[in-house]
Amino acid sequence: MNKDYYAILGVDKKASQEDIKKSFRQLARKYHPDANPTDKKQAEEKFKEISEAYEVLSDPEKRSVYDRTGSVDFGSGRTDFNWQDFTHYSDFQDIFDRIFGGNFGDSFFGGFRNQGPDLDLAVRVKVSLEDIYYGSTKNIKFRHNTRCEACEGTGAQGGVQTRCPTCNGTGQERVVQGQGFFRMVTVTTCRKCNGRGQIPREPCSVCKGYGSLAKTEILELSVPKGAPNNLKIRYKGKGQSQNGRTGDLFVILNVTEEPGIARSGDDLYIEQEISFPEAALGTEREIQIFRDKYVLKIPSGTQPGEIIKIKGAGFYHMNSNNRGDVNAMIKLYVPKKLSSRQKEILEEFMGQGDRKRSWMHR
Ligand SMILES: [Zn+2]
Ligand SMILES: [Zn+2]
Repeated sequence: MNKDYYAILGVDKKASQEDIKKSFRQLARKYHPDANPTDKKQAEEKFKEISEAYEVLSDPEKRSVYDRTGSVDFGSGRTDFNWQDFTHYSDFQDIFDRIFGGNFGDSFFGGFRNQGPDLDLAVRVKVSLEDIYYGSTKNIKFRHNTRCEACEGTGAQGGVQTRCPTCNGTGQERVVQGQGFFRMVTVTTCRKCNGRGQIPREPCSVCKGYGSLAKTEILELSVPKGAPNNLKIRYKGKGQSQNGRTGDLFVILNVTEEPGIARSGDDLYIEQEISFPEAALGTEREIQIFRDKYVLKIPSGTQPGEIIKIKGAGFYHMNSNNRGDVNAMIKLYVPKKLSSRQKEILEEFMGQGDRKRSWMHR
């Protein structure tokens, strides 16, 4: 069932970006898990729901897709939102900071503060077709949990640890299931110590025992020429840090669409309007592709819908020097007003020879 993001944020369909932001901020304060210690689970769900609604409605592109279709693709056709899809942490740092600090239940962290072995982090970055055409560099701001240096990631004050009482230092929990003759022993990682076998004697005062601290970092991303949409770029060791282990950061490129330009593989598509006499007699047009100028040579007798190519002026193929083409689709414009002289010429043209033949056939 589709969600009514407008209702969730309590705004109407014509709400401005400002209204949406204001409403989100209010609701985020209200449903912040920190403000709802007795109803944490419900608050977390509500908090996630408003974050999803905000993610969609604050982005004009996503909002227009949502308005038209009632749902949004969060990547590879996935319509269910998870925390990795949220791109506004830095806009609401005051609200999210405490969560990144690690004061909340595990269920809350879902995607972005992964538990267990998966400490990888994903950040989506918008890039333009121009970025892809030339390649570019961008500064990416992201937040992650980094190793707490005060306790060297152990979470223990002064690094002092004691044997975990739950697993007796083995790091494993054994669960015996079944009765009588049939018994099954399942061995899992100890949840109390996360498999380390040791727990802090006293939690580290700097990181409150988490072994990690939230930190904002900026990294320079180089967008490769010809990068496909949804390209994943890996930054080793820039993910979440927990219990002394650190994951990777994946930057996922979202290539945004631009009016008037389309991309298909390495080819670039544009439309070019010319007049009927230009199509009939042939002409040249200087066209601008981002920061470069090219000359489009339109031969005489060009038909509407015909594609004129400029070889090798398209997008680069990633990691090679091969390039696609520019494909200009020809459109004809018909003048709405004619001078009497123009009318005369056209009437003369129409009257020449067999009218049907000159118009309808080549
Ligand atoms: Zn243990
Ligand atoms: Zn610490």
